[in-house]
Amino acid sequence: MAVAARDGGSGDGRRPPRSARPEAAGTRAAAPRTPGSPRQARSPKQRRDGRRQPQRVRVPVSGTGRFTTAPAAASAARFSGAARTVRYAVDVEGGLPFDAAVFAAQVQRILNDPRSWGHGGRVRFVRVAHGPVAFRVSLASPALTDRLCAPLVTGGELSCRSGNRSVINARRWGQGAVTYGPDLASYREYVVNHEVGHALGHGHEQCPGRGRRAPVMVQQTKSLQGCRINPWPFPG
Ligand SMILES: [Zn+2]
Repeated sequence: MAVAARDGGSGDGRRPPRSARPEAAGTRAAAPRTPGSPRQARSPKQRRDGRRQPQRVRVPVSGTGRFTTAPAAASAARFSGAARTVRYAVDVEGGLPFDAAVFAAQVQRILNDPRSWGHGGRVRFVRVAHGPVAFRVSLASPALTDRLCAPLVTGGELSCRSGNRSVINARRWGQGAVTYGPDLASYREYVVNHEVGHALGHGHEQCPGRGRRAPVMVQQTKSLQGCRINPWPFPG
């Protein structure tokens, strides 16, 4: 599917999404409003659940309202021989305390993990900066997320898929979600895989049984329904 890139920052209200899916809020209190002055909070513990955790980052309510597209992945050429490749792009809103190239590299790593939608390399996700793409992964401030996801109510907290754009709420990217507890690294993997799953045509699923791993398309930040957290489509 080839879909032209859009400027998500126009906010002109004339572009309702074809469809969009809201993600559940959980009960986390709203972060302090710190427009224009993002601050980083150092976590006293950098390791949780056996893995190194990124620092939690406070995110302003609003950014510039305009996206910058990350450069193409340096590894794009290597994937040209894969059985099937899917082109995608990464956008990061200006004014957020996240570097576009760093975020893009994280998304690229997640999507090309053997446990992600490529399922062990059968499909490779090629990040490009220009030309047609199947979907975009866009890191947006709470304010821009609300605009892009409307008419769905994301309340400055949720992420969604809007058209071919997987909108990642920067607040959650920086702070995580209640159900993932201190495991911010796994939450980030979950939200990318879940929202890209929508962009690839997957709908929501239910927990198949108490104590089982939650399918990635369960709205895991709303309720695990008795399942365990799981960020991957094919956890192995
Ligand atoms: Zn969803």
